[in-house]
Amino acid sequence: MPLLEVESLCVNYGHIEAIRDISFSVERGTITTLIGANGAGKTTTLKTISGLRTVRAGKIIFDGKDITNLPPYERVKLGLSQSPEGRGVFPGMTVRENLDMGAFVRTDTKTPAYKEDLDRVYALFPRLEERAKQVAGTMSGGEQQMVAMGRALMARPKLVLLDEPSMGLAPKLIAQIFSIIDEIKAQGTTVLLVEQNAAQALKRSDTAHILETGEIVRSGTGTELAADGSVKAAYLGGDV
Ligand code: ATP
Repeated sequence: MPLLEVESLCVNYGHIEAIRDISFSVERGTITTLIGANGAGKTTTLKTISGLRTVRAGKIIFDGKDITNLPPYERVKLGLSQSPEGRGVFPGMTVRENLDMGAFVRTDTKTPAYKEDLDRVYALFPRLEERAKQVAGTMSGGEQQMVAMGRALMARPKLVLLDEPSMGLAPKLIAQIFSIIDEIKAQGTTVLLVEQNAAQALKRSDTAHILETGEIVRSGTGTELAADGSVKAAYLGGDV
């Protein structure tokens, strides 16, 4: 059974059909990526899976349970957490407080398991430990991205949704963020990634889907799509 199944999902903003009849699944232990141009519906898809947008039609099944109408915090409790697009941190809180917010649904924050998870996040992002007391709003863009990802991981998710984690970062930092994504997978967390940085994303995707104006137009393994002529021309600037 896949960890996540999205079945015939339709999402509207008023009369605008942002998502039209999308179906895909995410297998356990994999990285699945949604690639697409601006406005294709990638963020809307992630927000709908997190429960921040309501569904017009279709179903979302997580870990065998129909979560289509569950509020977002109930989804976090089941093991689904999201790192939002852009600098989605609580700017007035310290790094450590942001990380603690990620664990808001947990009842074990006084236990060794919680400390282990905090140590795991600090091992992935040593900068966050160094800057634990810094107010998050004063961090650089790349550091805030790390705070947002670390916060999502503090929920101890089975599935983490990452919305454009490399957006706006310098090439060196982009490489670092992608190797952290590899490490998150290696530690057993399933990843659903949205990226405009298609070359880097496809390289490590077990499965990828191309979204165009709210519809999935191509699916395959990352390697297959990276080798496909039309995908190369549209999303990879002609080469990988
Ligand atoms: P980007 O990479 O630019 O973030 P995206 O693929 O994530 O793009 P979405 O943000 O999901 O795309 O947008 C999908 C469509 O829905 C677009 O046509 C967008 O204009 C529209 N849309 C998104 N949010 C809203 C909103 N709050 N109100 C109205 N329309 C919206």
